[in-house]
Amino acid sequence: MSEHKEQKFVYDFTEGNRDLKDLLGGKGANLAEMTNLGLPVPPGFTITTEACKVYLASGDEPAALRDEVGAHLDALEKTMGKKLGQADDPLLVSVRSGAKFSMPGMMDTVLNIGLSDKSVQGLAKQSNNERFAWDSYRRLIQMFGKTVLGVDGELFEDALDKAKEAKKVTVDTDLEAADLKKLVTRFKKIVKTEAGRDFPQDAREQMDLAIHAVFDSWNTDRAKLYRRQERIPGDLGTAVNICSMVFGNLGPDSGTGVAFTRDPASGHAGVYGDYLQDAQGEDVVAGIRNTVPLADLENIDKKSYDQLMQIMETLETHYKDLCDIEFTIERGQLWMLQTRVGKRTAAAAFRIATQLVDQGLIDEAEALQRVNGAQLAQLMFPRFDEDAKAEKIARGIAASPGAAVGKAVFDSYTAIKWSRSGEKVILIRRETNPDDLEGMIAAEGILTSRGGKTSHAAVVARGMGKTCVCGAEELEVDTKRRRLTVNGTVIEEGDVVSIDGSTGKVYAGEVPVVPSPVVEYFEGRMHAGADDADELVAAVHRIMAYADRVRRLRVRANADNAEDALRARRFGAQGIGLCRTEHMFLGERREMVERLILADTDEEREQALNTLLPLQKKDFIELFEAMDGLPVTVRLLDPPLHEFLPDITELSVRVALAESRKDANENDLRLLQAVHKLHEQNPMLGLRGVRLGLVIPGLFAMQVRAIAEAAAERKNAKGDPRAEIMIPLVGTVQELEIVKDEADAVIAEVEAATGTNLKLTIGTMIELPRAALTAGQIAEAAQFFSFGTNDLTQTVWGFSRDDVEASFFTAYLEKGIFGVSPFETIDKDGVGSLVRSAVEAGRATRPDLKLGVCGEHGGDPESVHFFHEVGLDYVSCSPFRIPVARLEAGRAAAESKGSDSR
Ligand code: ADP
Ligand code: MG
Ligand code: MG
Repeated sequence: MSEHKEQKFVYDFTEGNRDLKDLLGGKGANLAEMTNLGLPVPPGFTITTEACKVYLASGDEPAALRDEVGAHLDALEKTMGKKLGQADDPLLVSVRSGAKFSMPGMMDTVLNIGLSDKSVQGLAKQSNNERFAWDSYRRLIQMFGKTVLGVDGELFEDALDKAKEAKKVTVDTDLEAADLKKLVTRFKKIVKTEAGRDFPQDAREQMDLAIHAVFDSWNTDRAKLYRRQERIPGDLGTAVNICSMVFGNLGPDSGTGVAFTRDPASGHAGVYGDYLQDAQGEDVVAGIRNTVPLADLENIDKKSYDQLMQIMETLETHYKDLCDIEFTIERGQLWMLQTRVGKRTAAAAFRIATQLVDQGLIDEAEALQRVNGAQLAQLMFPRFDEDAKAEKIARGIAASPGAAVGKAVFDSYTAIKWSRSGEKVILIRRETNPDDLEGMIAAEGILTSRGGKTSHAAVVARGMGKTCVCGAEELEVDTKRRRLTVNGTVIEEGDVVSIDGSTGKVYAGEVPVVPSPVVEYFEGRMHAGADDADELVAAVHRIMAYADRVRRLRVRANADNAEDALRARRFGAQGIGLCRTEHMFLGERREMVERLILADTDEEREQALNTLLPLQKKDFIELFEAMDGLPVTVRLLDPPLHEFLPDITELSVRVALAESRKDANENDLRLLQAVHKLHEQNPMLGLRGVRLGLVIPGLFAMQVRAIAEAAAERKNAKGDPRAEIMIPLVGTVQELEIVKDEADAVIAEVEAATGTNLKLTIGTMIELPRAALTAGQIAEAAQFFSFGTNDLTQTVWGFSRDDVEASFFTAYLEKGIFGVSPFETIDKDGVGSLVRSAVEAGRATRPDLKLGVCGEHGGDPESVHFFHEVGLDYVSCSPFRIPVARLEAGRAAAESKGSDSR
């Protein structure tokens, strides 16, 4: 690490570019990019995330920072021809936070820094607009008081409301200079009482306090929660942007707006955004006055409108993607205040990616990077039944797709409380703000009566992939009385409502749901090529084709029966990676298993096995038929036997009761004895997997025979069965060798008897650390490995999943011990490194060793990338996750193209 004093902590907007997001944050990097594109950005500079890191680590800003900021401020003042806070003509700036990823919970921007009791007079004179000057000053005290000094924002809001009431007006623009002057006095009093200090009159002090507040906001609870949710590392730090002010609140020829370069919901080209005249900063998204659609700007200020359209085109071509922007018009002059690659719905992501390919802006490999498995999973959610008779009570803006049904709640606290007790809730607010974040997380969906596509509720819900309808203006939301009214209908807290985030429709009561068109497409019930094909389905079809074309990883399914196997096949499975045979021992067959366990003699045991054999064989025939021509990995019995016996307490009670009645049942007594004998302290680490096969004579042989006979029958019926026999929970090669010898003998016998050559392969799961550590030896006896990453995670961490997830995982996640449960996404450093070394050792012994994974991680996007990278041949996951795995395997391959030597 270089010395801090050599480090550069401040970059002028002209010095940065969009690739410097780590250093300048997203906002700063893009402001620099726009500046260098020659777009009209108010001059300014960015303090780096490195400065923030020093501040967070040491509690103080780096020693050099003050002077460096001073030098940049001097330069800015020279450019602007006025000094920060200068009494007769003040330079004003905004102080804006901006991390690498946009993040709720960070400090809100403070505008108009540099105003004071003196300079407000200068601003009034210079602008020839006293009202504007005092409006700007009251905004500064309000924003500064709230975000920098920590004063309750409601106090300012209340004072503002009172001022409006006193004047008998409803909107802030009707307050005149004199009213605003009074309000400033009031605001300053609030600051004095609440913060215990005067509002600072020194401009540089205002700026420095705001900068520190931005640094501090990195560690607010809300920011931390968001980072955890989004898996953003906690040590990135935030940058701070100092940007000279431009004013949208100078009268009707001024205003501020937000826009997308194309529709973020459909991807279609067009004019999408909101504009508000005579307004500053957040006014446009805060819903304080009614905005107009961006298209109306053409009538209000044609010159600025045309320029804006031009700029949006420039941005889209330059970024080769949908961008969202913030702009301000000051007396007919357009200024760009922010841009970034815009958030979008999952559906729009797929459509936009293919639209951009058609426009020649990106290629197929890039298109794959524009979508992801989580989005695809979201599109596979069911939707409301359009034909259902449902009472539609309102229509708002379709802000984030999905169909959500739940009980109406009107505050975050209730949302959290009810959802903890297992209720599904819809959070209904007039509008949301960052304080609602946890309630939004707890809710099935979010409904607001105010705000547009760019409102807080809409943006945050889209980010979380949560259903949201916003701006349903017909709704009168009364959070105090906890109810909403709409055209005579009243919804009280606890009443069920349904909201459709894809159409914006709001219903009273529960609306039934129907499958998604994307699922219909995967099921083969909807065709992407048809003339009237759904636009989304067509886009998904194309993207899946790109993915299938480039991916190296094959995708198999975890499926235990023909029905699941057939669905998996429709979804694109290239085989079965895990067929669990224990499912074949349940239901009516449980009794036979009981008999097997209770058997005292070899005959009894053999008899029990012989009754199971034909049943198993039939299951396998169906499965091999469903998967004809594709590999089917059958795992021999894995779970401990007591899982097939009655519950120990239940049985004890039954036996005790019978004994007290003096009519003890002989069978129950034997069962109880067996249950006691098989009872284990740690069943997960007990008699299961290959250990069962080794101590219960004939069990595995019966299963192998069933597989072999089924395969032979399929062969003789001109089928193409490709069974693979998998031994679970092997810890040492000797275990595998014994089972393998027995299996080979059975297979040879069946082949001789049926006159077939079955080409069955035998392999093992790698799910114990010892197996992974001795993979080189184990490969001598195994033709394939399948990593059982669920058990491997349990045994590597020493976690019993069912116990730890419920008891202390939340605490671990909160403390940041891991950002995501290792059962969800593979722990690359620990479990993953065992997988990696086992792959290498296994292949060293047996170069053609087939390698796969059958834990739940096989369908997790991030884990799929890891398995691609370590060189597995396939991943196996539940049928429903197959499209996600295919897509992610394609994305991984496209990403590593060129660098991948395998
Ligand atoms: P956020 O990250 O919440 O979008 P921003 O830093 O973009 O915060 O600022 C909040 C609002 O203030 C936005 O509407 C933005 O356009 C506006 N704003 C920020 N800086 C300036 C400035 N220098 N002049 C005018 N408006 C500004
Ligand atoms: Mg912004
Ligand atoms: Mg296992």
